[in-house]
Amino acid sequence: MLIDTHAHIQEFSDDEIRHIQKSMYVINIACSIEEIERTVDISEKFKNIKYSLGLHPELITNTISYEEIDNMISEFKKLVNKHMPIAIGEIGYNFGKTEDNTLEKQTYLFEKLLSFSTSLKLPAIIHCRENWKELLATFSRLNSSSGGVIHSIDTDKLNLTKLLDLGFYVSLNGISTFKSANSIRGLIKFIPLDRLLIETDSPFLSPEPVRGKQNTPLNIDYIYSFLANEFNITKEKLINTVLINSENLFKFPKNTF
Ligand SMILES: [Zn+2]
Repeated sequence: MLIDTHAHIQEFSDDEIRHIQKSMYVINIACSIEEIERTVDISEKFKNIKYSLGLHPELITNTISYEEIDNMISEFKKLVNKHMPIAIGEIGYNFGKTEDNTLEKQTYLFEKLLSFSTSLKLPAIIHCRENWKELLATFSRLNSSSGGVIHSIDTDKLNLTKLLDLGFYVSLNGISTFKSANSIRGLIKFIPLDRLLIETDSPFLSPEPVRGKQNTPLNIDYIYSFLANEFNITKEKLINTVLINSENLFKFPKNTF
């Protein structure tokens, strides 16, 4: 079966989710404390849907205080211990800026959450826009992690190589189908098939040919078709590869879905 390794379906109706999970597996990602209850609820109601819990770096604003970040982290840890997810994420960096101090605060949040995932031996789902230098510095400062995936990878070959060397998986989505995404398509030949995941990031980033509409995990089929061609393998082989990679990374017992 198809797997979408990264989606946000908390806002989808139960009817929509029932329809989706009939034909595929989904890893549903919560990005804030507020999303956790609905996220857990969906997996209790429907089979074929697993969840990851995280605190997205976009929660870091100019005005948030370190005390507020600490409170958020301790509440998050309580909920994670109660509802054990398959991964911690998404966590990471989102356009952090030194000038307004968000970069420093994002690093603070990210380090705490990455250490937490390591202590639980859970993989991390990493979001990173722009701050690749800081991301790599955090990995080397902490000097150990329980691995994970760099979702929606969009960086240069040098950073990609460093991330692969650290043992990370990388994930491609609908962006790779966009005409303008030459840089991402240029990375494809450097991604080993046994480190590849594929995602929709629904409800965002609808792939061609449905770009501009609200995305749904059902659109993953377009992305598999497109990428099978790019990787020059059959779609069946790509689907099977990503399923095996997901089982390996997220440690699902075989046939767990
Ligand atoms: Zn996401």
